[in-house]
Amino acid sequence: MKKGANQPLFFWAKSGDLHMILSEFLASAYHVSPHALVLGHPVEHSRSPLIHNTAARDRKIDITYYAVDCIPEERYLIPKLFESESFFGANITIPLKKEISGYLDEIDGPAKAIGAVNTVVPVRNPNTGDVSVRQKPDKLIGYNTDVYGFAKPLEKYQTFKKAIILGSGGAARAVQYVLENKHVSTIYVVSRTKTGKKSNNILKKNLGENFGDASSRERNPDFPAENTEVVTISYDELGQALKESDILVNTTPVGMHPNIEESPVPDNLMPLFSDKICYDIIYNPLQTRLLKKAKKHGAITIGGLDMFIYQAARAFELWFQTPMPVDKVREILMTKS
Ligand code: NAP
Repeated sequence: MKKGANQPLFFWAKSGDLHMILSEFLASAYHVSPHALVLGHPVEHSRSPLIHNTAARDRKIDITYYAVDCIPEERYLIPKLFESESFFGANITIPLKKEISGYLDEIDGPAKAIGAVNTVVPVRNPNTGDVSVRQKPDKLIGYNTDVYGFAKPLEKYQTFKKAIILGSGGAARAVQYVLENKHVSTIYVVSRTKTGKKSNNILKKNLGENFGDASSRERNPDFPAENTEVVTISYDELGQALKESDILVNTTPVGMHPNIEESPVPDNLMPLFSDKICYDIIYNPLQTRLLKKAKKHGAITIGGLDMFIYQAARAFELWFQTPMPVDKVREILMTKS
């Protein structure tokens, strides 16, 4: 365990030093007092401890949130982590978002459709979120709160005719799921590696599943969401797609710290952004080069910080049955980024 491990919560939350490997965590006193955590590999630079410890203190919830590094040879310890009487929630990050479902009892609809769980909710009966109740969870449910986080800043926009998603990884699927739910007619997924492959409409593929309350799925009789056409294209075709579309979402890591001078869209295409929405889910830096340039050319721009905050807010609410203090969390993230 790291130096300073016996310091009280206020020290941890200030230093952000809440990081240890899974076996260390299970052997420590932290494991037997109320806790939540982010589990993945690596997790050292995760901002989630800062978010959730700030929120818990503000809401006077007596819990500490840790970053627990699950190295591949310690995966067998995951069930021990989840069956603890003191376990009140987990965020799941790379590389466990898919395989974590094997440790859970239920997967919520959107998480199942997307194929990625980023939040684990231990359910006790009654499910009050009260951290003074010590009892082994009755069941574990997996959610994908990126869906909610991505959708939140788009709430004020009804729908889009055509949309572009740059990248085809995990976050891209959550974005696609939301755009399908907004009844977009065509989604262009721009990929370096998957061109020529058939793309699937996520909703159509999962028709008949129970999508749960987090899906925000609304039936539009004129244009059912499962009618969205999803087409994978190459970067050579981006210019034409941009002319036709009203929103572009960057889900690639291009432009992320420390490579802040990079952009996934070449400069010669930037004038096409006039009056369109440019949404970059990167939150470090807050304004990527792509967003800065798009704004200069008349785009409405949305950065990734709100998505990051609202995916956390949804998890917090699922765990503790109370809203996260979103403004307080935004303030602390802005001062410490
Ligand atoms: P991922 O699974 O690795 O997917 C990223 C995709 O981007 C890849 O599948 C790849 O698609 C493309 N890509 C990767 N490197 C590239 C490069 N050098 N040039 C062009 N394209 C490249 O990662 P992810 O989990 O989806 O996350 C992607 C980004 O979203 C990260 O920057 C992450 O920090 C951010 N994110 C933000 C939030 C938030 O709350 N704001 C949440 C989740 C993720 P192709 O191979 O098809 O080109």
